[in-house]
Amino acid sequence: MQPIHSLLDEKARSLGFIAVGFTRPDRPLHFDRFTEWLEKGNNAGMAWLRRNLDVRENPSKMLRNSRTIISLAYPYSARKPESTDGFAVARYADPVKEDYHFRLRMLCRELVALIKENEPGSRSRICVDSAPLMERSIAAAAGIGFIGKNNLLIIPGYGSYLYLAEILTTAVVSFPSLEPSTNQCGSCSLCLEVCPKGALEKPFLLNASRCLSYLTVEDKSGLRADIGKILGKCFFGCDRCQEICPFNGKTHASDVVLPSTDVFLSMDEETFERDFGRTALARTGLEKLKGNIRAARAPDDANAPDSLTTMPRL
Ligand code: SF4
Ligand code: SF4
Repeated sequence: MQPIHSLLDEKARSLGFIAVGFTRPDRPLHFDRFTEWLEKGNNAGMAWLRRNLDVRENPSKMLRNSRTIISLAYPYSARKPESTDGFAVARYADPVKEDYHFRLRMLCRELVALIKENEPGSRSRICVDSAPLMERSIAAAAGIGFIGKNNLLIIPGYGSYLYLAEILTTAVVSFPSLEPSTNQCGSCSLCLEVCPKGALEKPFLLNASRCLSYLTVEDKSGLRADIGKILGKCFFGCDRCQEICPFNGKTHASDVVLPSTDVFLSMDEETFERDFGRTALARTGLEKLKGNIRAARAPDDANAPDSLTTMPRL
């Protein structure tokens, strides 16, 4: 009879996951590094990262009597989503698809059904990004990839354009024991060099308050005027430390899938909700997006004869 870990691997791959790994709900590999990072205030305004530290340290608290964590990686396109006037959003936002939180949860439900079929009394819990789990440490412990100096999970032979999800389960899943993946960056430091704000202060150390991804997505205040100059064309997230990474291979053409920034700037909430309400862009909301767009356009608009001074102020 085919073992459950192999059935799950097969099923997950048929659903589109690119990597599947198994580990125990033990103390995460980099928990101490994480608490040190928090103590230094590197989480900026993401106060939720300080909550539920006991769960982050002991993932089995997410699900009583859990015995296994299944770590899963799902790909997103390497092509950057672009607007008709050449502005862009980070690849993970994938604005033509439903928010990845919903999509991955649906797919993971099929895996949970398979676990249940094999062990009817089992309980499982699906986590996609928003649970207090150290997802990248878990993925590294499960052997599916390593954490790069840019702090992202990298799968050798694939790269880092991926989402992570976990299933905790009480089911007894025996799996071949694996060594945790170790870093393979070698002497490369391209991601640190390319970061326009110096947010990667040293290998594996991200100062979120300087990161454009944090500033354009998570930070609810308006962008400072000087940020516009370094945003480039990307008004939601920033992929520079991924684009430069040799593990992500060659540059891919962009996908023009968004309306122009003029259309966004004149959009009302109802239209935004209808067109983007179920996408990852909805997480920042329309007003924040408009502020980001104004900031990204500011260097160009400043040269335009009918320039508007609409930059949000701090
Ligand atoms: S996402 Fe952009 S700003 Fe943030 S660390 Fe990477 S390169 Fe730097
Ligand atoms: S760019 Fe270089 S140093 Fe940074 S994560 Fe990729 S391989 Fe590692």
